[in-house]
Amino acid sequence: MFHKILIANRGEIALRVLRAAKELGIQTVAVHSTADADAMHVRLADESVCIGPPPSRDSYLNIHQILAACEITGADAVHPGYGFLSENAKFSEILAAHNLTFIGPSAEHIRIMGDKITAKKTVKELGIPVVPGSDGAVTDDVEAKRIAADIGYPVLIKASAGGGGRGMKVAKTEADLAEALSTARSEAGAAFGDDAVYIEKYLEKPRHIEVQVMGDGAGKAIHLGERDCSLQRRHQKVWEEANSPALNVEQRNRIGEIVSKAIADLGYSGAGTIEFLYENGEFYFIEMNTRLQVEHPVTEAITGIDLVHEQIRVASGGGLSCTQDEVRFEGHAIECRINAEDPRTFTPSPGTITHFHTPGGLGIRVDSGVYSGYRIPPYYDSLIGKLIVHGRNRVECMMRLRRALDEFVVDGIKTTLPLFQDLVGNPDIANGDYDIHWLENYLAKTS
Ligand code: ADP
Repeated sequence: MFHKILIANRGEIALRVLRAAKELGIQTVAVHSTADADAMHVRLADESVCIGPPPSRDSYLNIHQILAACEITGADAVHPGYGFLSENAKFSEILAAHNLTFIGPSAEHIRIMGDKITAKKTVKELGIPVVPGSDGAVTDDVEAKRIAADIGYPVLIKASAGGGGRGMKVAKTEADLAEALSTARSEAGAAFGDDAVYIEKYLEKPRHIEVQVMGDGAGKAIHLGERDCSLQRRHQKVWEEANSPALNVEQRNRIGEIVSKAIADLGYSGAGTIEFLYENGEFYFIEMNTRLQVEHPVTEAITGIDLVHEQIRVASGGGLSCTQDEVRFEGHAIECRINAEDPRTFTPSPGTITHFHTPGGLGIRVDSGVYSGYRIPPYYDSLIGKLIVHGRNRVECMMRLRRALDEFVVDGIKTTLPLFQDLVGNPDIANGDYDIHWLENYLAKTS
């Protein structure tokens, strides 16, 4: 087991990792920018090191400074959290070259999944269903026309290096195709320095359903069920739940088995998420994230398995703590992402939190790094906390969520809490009847 873990992140996820390390009796090192000197993860860690000025590129993304912090403190492993350096293959290789363990998968697997064309080809060969489309990059417009006609319109042009929904263009008919291709290529080239694009069938009303996996790096892997993250705004998840209201036990087991077998065959190590679009009873792979996800607590709530403990165990060579047969799915869990944003326009609302009171009681978990008097720096992501609610079934979970939202107080700034109060009372949400466009349509109708 590791002696000391450096957490290369900030906010609620830094705290989340710190808690798991403490439970395992491992010393913790926080790193922080000058803007985060007062942050909770810094206060609760055994040691802390300031790694630079506020902009992320000078601090949380500054590999030299993080290496120096490891050396000064004698840390033997680094947990990257999510975002920042968590999917940076080079970072993991640099750590390895300095005899430090990156708590995550191999650099090779990060690279494969970071390139969408390679990722899609790899998982298809491993037996995972993918969205019908081109085999690889499309460079010539005549070939593009043939492929699009073959799979049928509408089609989606996607950037191989894409992320955050950028470099994606829909072509409804053949007349739109040439322009969609050239816009997607130039957007991708400008944003990612790589203009490779590919074509997929555009699914009109899918749900976003993702499967959590854990591999031991030696050919064993388990799945921990799915999360439904269909409630999104501009491709950003807002509300996540497990299990998905759209799947039954048989469908859950079927996709879980396909995915865990693929991950085992790949020899994957650590936590990963296979994201799918789900429409008319079929799953279509869109991407794999090779890290812990923001929404991992809903999976923890229904399985009782601490995913960060598992990540640490696997990275230190201790293997997985359980087999697939030992994984049980109990009840239902929902996570609401509480952002420091206007609940309608989603404009960031940094500032000082004058009062912060979190709900409590059975089945309630709040993961947050903020407190009364905390000043939210304007430099980073606007997520200030996550409310995770568990119940024996979805109805009980929704009742508890409604009550917990009423108890939650954040004064001094705007937050997305009022949006969740609206959603929890909406009949479509109560029925679990929504797809990836539901939230944007709802916001457009009610604003
Ligand atoms: P990114 O890495 O940019 O987030 P993804 O491949 O994960 O890109 O896709 C982001 C979102 O775009 C999905 O959650 C979905 O809403 C939409 N999307 C992606 N592929 C398709 C598709 N083939 N049909 C319809 N919508 C899609």
